[in-house]
Amino acid sequence: MSQFIQRTELKTFYYTPVHCPFCGTRVMGADPLDETRITACQHTLFIAHDTAFEYRSARLNANLSLEGMSDQQVEAAWLADERGIDGFTDTVTLTDAIKVAAYAPEPSAYGSYYGFAPVDAQLDN
Ligand SMILES: [Zn+2]
Repeated sequence: MSQFIQRTELKTFYYTPVHCPFCGTRVMGADPLDETRITACQHTLFIAHDTAFEYRSARLNANLSLEGMSDQQVEAAWLADERGIDGFTDTVTLTDAIKVAAYAPEPSAYGSYYGFAPVDAQLDN
């Protein structure tokens, strides 16, 4: 049985740099010259904020049926979720997947979302 991605929320320490729980790669802000640069490891499923995906892995595209879609079609897909990208990425069902949702406090209420899942070469996922 597949289950939905497990969520962890950062609300107070939302600015804490997020590292992959499986290999320790710092996925955002690792480059001191460009803190917006993304460093996706093999476990990274997605990196997103409230208005767009910054990164989508092939595993994510397959799991959420986004394969072959244009960026506009992908946007339409998550806009169809009443909770937007946050809700849409909650529907990931990859085995033992983990999501970190970092919410900046009111009034900005800006969210950043990071998804990870283990890689099992035997399952070839
Ligand atoms: Zn990793």
